[in-house]
Amino acid sequence: MIFYSPDPDPVYPTVDVYHYLDSNPCLVPPGKTVFIDPETGRSLTFGQFLLETRQFAAGLQDSLGFQERQVLAVYSCNQYDFGIPVLGTLCAGGIVTTVNHSYTLDEVVHQLTDSQARYIVTTVDLLPTATKAAEICGIAPEAILLFGDKDDASSGKKAYRSILGKRLAEPATLAMDDIAYLCYSSGTTGKSKGVMLTHGNITSNLVQIMSYDAEVIKEKNLVVLGFLPLYHIYGLMNCLHISLITGTETIIMPKFDLPSFLQNIQTYKVTNTFIVPPVALALAKHPMVKNYDLSSLRHIACGAAPLPKDLCRMIEAQLGVYCRQGFGMTEASPLVACLRPKANGPDGSVGPLVAGLMAKVVDPSTGKEMGVGEQGEWLLKGPNVMKGYLNNIEATKHTIREDGWMHTGDIVYVDENHNWFVVDRLKELIKYKGFQIPAAELEALLQTHPKVLDAAVIPAYDASQATEIPRAYIVLHDPAEASDELKKDIVDFLTSKVAPHKKLRGGVVFTNEIPKSASGKILRKDIVKFDREQEANP
Ligand code: AMP
Repeated sequence: MIFYSPDPDPVYPTVDVYHYLDSNPCLVPPGKTVFIDPETGRSLTFGQFLLETRQFAAGLQDSLGFQERQVLAVYSCNQYDFGIPVLGTLCAGGIVTTVNHSYTLDEVVHQLTDSQARYIVTTVDLLPTATKAAEICGIAPEAILLFGDKDDASSGKKAYRSILGKRLAEPATLAMDDIAYLCYSSGTTGKSKGVMLTHGNITSNLVQIMSYDAEVIKEKNLVVLGFLPLYHIYGLMNCLHISLITGTETIIMPKFDLPSFLQNIQTYKVTNTFIVPPVALALAKHPMVKNYDLSSLRHIACGAAPLPKDLCRMIEAQLGVYCRQGFGMTEASPLVACLRPKANGPDGSVGPLVAGLMAKVVDPSTGKEMGVGEQGEWLLKGPNVMKGYLNNIEATKHTIREDGWMHTGDIVYVDENHNWFVVDRLKELIKYKGFQIPAAELEALLQTHPKVLDAAVIPAYDASQATEIPRAYIVLHDPAEASDELKKDIVDFLTSKVAPHKKLRGGVVFTNEIPKSASGKILRKDIVKFDREQEANP
């Protein structure tokens, strides 16, 4: 059985991302302020943005010999002008990969190598890691550029603004099937992979988002507070692309912290914000919330990880604002489903599918297609579904069936009113506050610890922060060595090797054996079940 969106199919753009933006479908006045840096007050208007992206494209071509289809990595925390190198690269016919700024050197090297990036735009504080990674990956030192206005005297690196060309590049005309972004996701299994999101994927998801949110976009004087990391597709689409296309003033925070988040809502009279469950928890319960005037808020959307059922209602009671849940995944560019504005959908639902996206619910063990109200794995097909994983035919085949249906690795059901509910996750992925933690990556690292024989990493849950946390089940070479000190040593060992969000916050549990299937696959569900039982009866 195929499930459709209740909304009519949108008309999809037939031009690449830059041309779509340049066509100005929402008739944004050139003088409209789009991005604001709340720390310095600096801002960019829609007209400046278009001008500077063309200048950047020209600078890349003229100063650095940039060629179409080359890859530029943006490795930075949020910046109000993050979009200039991003859209500027697309304007030059290139591909952008966005790198998590908290990654360790090895993680950065993995992404730069895998994506074959030849250029990096970064910040002075990340320069030591960026320079080392570039050296390892054979990226020319002059191909590293910096955010900010000034060149860096001590390293000799140029600000990207220094290469802005005097001429304006003619935007490259790209096919809808050409890759625009390489965002990294572990998908249903294994390590982080390059998700090939094409110009067609991105422009389709943009109109899918704008069509269900049409009512909101029409409202006057919208102000978005953007703290979501722009390297992740959730932030990249909602706080950068949608803001640009609709000309919505967007306050770009470098990263999240609760007092600045609340202060910015009050100062800038923010109307809309896109959040993740731990922020929902803070809005619902944190005593600090009462110290700020948040009366300007009109729309809150929450996604990226499961949202405890009662939190939306608690936010509504606290702030009088309807908080609606959505569901996205990198491989779907990202938006899959979302409750419509003011729809007041059922608690716990992620709402109906976006227009033009089709879904099936399939029993993971038998492949049987399920009906309304029956649980199974969510399969998706539509114009926003990725082209595949970069240089990874096997993972692509494993995820996208020959008939085009993509496995999400999430267990869901749908009610008779088109409202979808996510009930469990089939895939190994763990999400800490919306950030991806590929279990297989942590397991591989843990196995390099001299005392560890075998390891499995599962999601535990920290209700006090409304987030999953990773917990390692470990088999030791010598079980007699089990001790609290060794647990700490293993946690510290991993901490030194991964980005902070991947830390073993759920701790270590020693065990005699990791349950595995006949083919050697870790039986994660069995460990999770055991873990839950232990938590319930410690
Ligand atoms: P990412 O590619 O980082 O966006 O991660 C996508 C995954 O996050 C999905 O496949 C889900 O497992 C999870 N996810 C995203 N939104 C939700 C949600 N609203 N409820 C439950 N899980 C979610």
